[in-house]
Amino acid sequence: RLEAKIGITKKAVGALTGSIELSEKELEPFLEELELSLLEADMEQETARAFTLELRTRLAGQKIPSSKNPNEFLREKVAEALNTIMGVETLGLEQRMREKKPFVVLVLGPNGACKTTSIAKLTHLFKGKGKKVVLASADTFRAGSIEQLEVHAQRLNARLVKHGYGADPAAVAFDAVKAAQAEHADLVLIDCAGRQETNKNLMQELKKIVRVSKPDLKIYVGEAFTGQALLRQARQVDREIGIDAFILTKMDADAKGGTAISLLHELKKPILYIGTGQGYGDLKPFEPAFVVKNVLG
Ligand code: GDP
Repeated sequence: RLEAKIGITKKAVGALTGSIELSEKELEPFLEELELSLLEADMEQETARAFTLELRTRLAGQKIPSSKNPNEFLREKVAEALNTIMGVETLGLEQRMREKKPFVVLVLGPNGACKTTSIAKLTHLFKGKGKKVVLASADTFRAGSIEQLEVHAQRLNARLVKHGYGADPAAVAFDAVKAAQAEHADLVLIDCAGRQETNKNLMQELKKIVRVSKPDLKIYVGEAFTGQALLRQARQVDREIGIDAFILTKMDADAKGGTAISLLHELKKPILYIGTGQGYGDLKPFEPAFVVKNVLG
């Protein structure tokens, strides 16, 4: 849990209440402590600095209204500053899905980031909304990947398009889009290989899938608590392939939210959903308020 230690810094609160005006100097101990707790919560240094800078300008020279509890006042300011640095437009996914049929989604991300499970969760979600879903097993590289998706497809009663191992992943994606068109499906979810992101062949492979299947949306799946590593990988994939949005997984397991803030602040792409467990229903729309709450404790 991210503890921003608001209200714990007695010195800062004292400085705030006691003064007529808040000078930058008086705020320093509070801001320093806050920045440290943000770094401990997986927030990137650059983001933490941007945040404290934003908060500093919001607090410096401010007076706390006598009607307000100083802690409450601080919480409000922290929430405002967080919302400012996280400011990313929302995607309007369901509206876009209504406008384009089939809506083609390429799901990217490193092995082990819960990509396959997230595809299954998305299938469950949209089937529940009455959509017809086609899955494409375009990771023809990792042993077991086709069977793994197949199990989900059977359980969720979704159509799966697959070829064998070693087959051209772009051909699988292409066939899936064709099948979806022929069957008037609403949504195509393409699972692709996630072996080492730095692998040049993988980038070529992914580029070919994009050329051939022309995805309407490219989602990157990453584990919430991997912090810096996730940012580094996502930045590279964004440069090479282009990322439109994120799914952050394992938010249930020790995720403090700092990664989410960093992603929003540095890559300026919306986080569509968060994974909160292993069940099909454990996919929740991302709410900035969730992160703010985590920070405020
Ligand atoms: P892939 O290699 O990226 O396809 O990863 P998988 O989808 O196979 O997921 C790896 C493991 O993480 C599986 O055991 C999943 O059940 C588990 N998992 C997936 N999503 C979540 C989540 O949101 N929270 C938790 N705690 N586990 C998850």
